Amino acid sequence: MKRAISMSHTVRARLTLWNVSIVALVLIAIGVGIRVQVARVALQSIDDRLIQFGDDIQREVNTNQPSPFRDALLGIPGPPRGGFGRMFRGHGRRSTLPPVILDRSGKDLTGSWKLYDLGAASEAWRGRRLFTTVTIAGDSYRVMSMPLMMSGKVAGVLQLPFSTRAVTTEVNHLTSALIAFAPIALFLSALTGALLTNNALRPVRSITQACDAIESGTLSDRLPVNGADEFAGLSVTLNRMLARIEAAFAQMDKAYRQLESFTADASHEIRSPLTVIKANTSIAMRDDEPIETYRYALSAADRAADRIDTIVESLMLLARLDSSVITASFAPVCVSSAVTRAIELCDNGVGAVVSLNVVSQSAVVAGNEEMLVRLFENLVSNGKRYTPADGCVSVSVRPDGDQAEIRVEDTGVGIEPEQLAHIFERFYRVDRARARESGGTGLGLSICKSIAAIHRGGITVTSEVGVGSTFTVRIPLLQAD
Ligand code: ADP
Repeated sequence: MKRAISMSHTVRARLTLWNVSIVALVLIAIGVGIRVQVARVALQSIDDRLIQFGDDIQREVNTNQPSPFRDALLGIPGPPRGGFGRMFRGHGRRSTLPPVILDRSGKDLTGSWKLYDLGAASEAWRGRRLFTTVTIAGDSYRVMSMPLMMSGKVAGVLQLPFSTRAVTTEVNHLTSALIAFAPIALFLSALTGALLTNNALRPVRSITQACDAIESGTLSDRLPVNGADEFAGLSVTLNRMLARIEAAFAQMDKAYRQLESFTADASHEIRSPLTVIKANTSIAMRDDEPIETYRYALSAADRAADRIDTIVESLMLLARLDSSVITASFAPVCVSSAVTRAIELCDNGVGAVVSLNVVSQSAVVAGNEEMLVRLFENLVSNGKRYTPADGCVSVSVRPDGDQAEIRVEDTGVGIEPEQLAHIFERFYRVDRARARESGGTGLGLSICKSIAAIHRGGITVTSEVGVGSTFTVRIPLLQAD
């Protein structure tokens, strides 16, 4: 129980951690995205202003109005140092450094003797307008370099700087605001994550408690199924598993009881002839008994030993049939030949007559011939055993769809309806005393059932007391007529 609860705590902690991590990642992504986007937009607006101002200067150069830029390009001495810078501010725009106009050698024609970006200036000489970000005296500036045209030719390169400090400050403020907001967002996501997980895991706790309460004696209990969510599905699945475990337990319990009664029956069946052997050997060891008494005692002990031998042989056969080792040696078997051999083995010249009617001569099944002969021999010998001498036992072999049908009918004593369900059980005999007297062990029909089963077939019986019994074996055909 404690373990289950600590597990649920671990899951809650893990889910909360995941939740917080995902929110943190999302915040970082959003923060970086916003920062990049704001910086991009701000730079774009600086670039737009620089373009506008650059175009104004180009227009000024192209007109006949007095212009310090035009004068500079024509080599006419311009206004005092910084005059171009004041002009830029005079246009209503904020720039911390004055514009410069460079000649082909890189010399500043405005008289300020400054150069902001030599690489960009030489590019601009090829007629391109370009923007660069440079650091001047420790401050970052956006510099636009553009060619100034006069009479269709590049007469100089204009470089306009604009401080990006305002943009950087703005973006930094934004970042600080996001960083300040992050812990609050993370705390809220941890709190809601923990609460939601706790809520979501409540059914797990109730399932765990219900499972803990189920023991071997309460396997028929079932878990509560609430609602129709995934946890209800889990409860339904666990309930199905419990039903299977319960059925398996019941089956094992039944098998254990069967084994118990089988062991008790087997011990009892072997003890009876052992008692006979013990009693008769005691007689045989007595002195001065007539020779007939010794002979009688020894032959009784011999019969009892034979009986033990029969029982042990049958039990060993059942064990082999249960372990399915016989199926490994399966080969095609002609059913009518196996039946004919079984009838011959039962023919001891006494008792009811056995007749054979073969409709399907060449019905072949996959199997073990010895085992099939044993199956039919058991049925025919039972027929003879439980049928008066003036009765008859008829055996027939015929195809029935894709199966071979072997029927053993007798006109014997028949079996009570309530006994029919039990006669295939091990050691079951309708009339123990009579069956034992006639040599029956109560294992014959269970051997028949096992042999039919390993041949993927089955055996059924119908019977009427005083009229007779019919045993029908069906085995899948390998080939038919
Ligand atoms: P057993 O070796 O005692 O014959 P089986 O397993 O062969 O044991 O048969 C179980 C019981 O079924 C028998 O004790 C008998 O009462 C009954 N039985 C089997 N075959 C027949 C039959 N042909 N007619 C009547 N009863 C039968």
